[in-house]
Amino acid sequence: MKYPKLRELKEALTALIKGPYTSDFPRKNHHPAKRFRGKPEYSNEGCIACTACAMVCPARAIEFRDVVNKDSSTRKMILHLDECHYCGQCSALCTTREDSPPGIRHTTEFDLAGFDRESMISSTDEKELALCEICGDVITAKAHLAWISRKLGSLAFSNPTLFASSLKSMGFADDVLQTAKDSILRSDRIKILCSKCRRKTTIERF
Ligand code: SF4
Ligand code: SF4
Repeated sequence: MKYPKLRELKEALTALIKGPYTSDFPRKNHHPAKRFRGKPEYSNEGCIACTACAMVCPARAIEFRDVVNKDSSTRKMILHLDECHYCGQCSALCTTREDSPPGIRHTTEFDLAGFDRESMISSTDEKELALCEICGDVITAKAHLAWISRKLGSLAFSNPTLFASSLKSMGFADDVLQTAKDSILRSDRIKILCSKCRRKTTIERF
């Protein structure tokens, strides 16, 4: 029992001379360490709206809102800061974590208390969705398909959905796909399709 008491005494004396270990916030500004996990922030440029961060978030603090309309269909990623644990799973497992900029990263911002829950969010802009050309279901964000195509390089041309969406993003898909439709048996396969319709056109209609 004697030694712990001496240790505490030593710590008390050190603190008297050197001052406390804790910072003087809020009287003085606090500058957290560089790798401090503060407010998570989306990057519009880096985020491809794949929803992986929403799937791994243990607090379910991340939602994605899909709006499907006749003219345009979009997805928005929304992170609720008032529900976030600042655990870092979203940034550690973000699909584009190795890109520059990554889809989401932690800032060192920590003074986030407030009264209006609606304003305590971090979100992306609305990203365009890719819909199945047969049933109209949401496949994923177009930016996600483009990211996969970039990663696969020439291998992406073995996947009709990636191939067709790349052609469309370049603006000359209609001619190519329409010509193919006239001359290829089971031409439904070379459309942008969800997994269910892909299975139907590949296996069930064989
Ligand atoms: S830091 Fe953790 S709790 Fe917060 S949004 Fe990311 S995964 Fe969810
Ligand atoms: S790119 Fe990263 S931040 Fe964006 S939705 Fe996917 S996992 Fe989340």
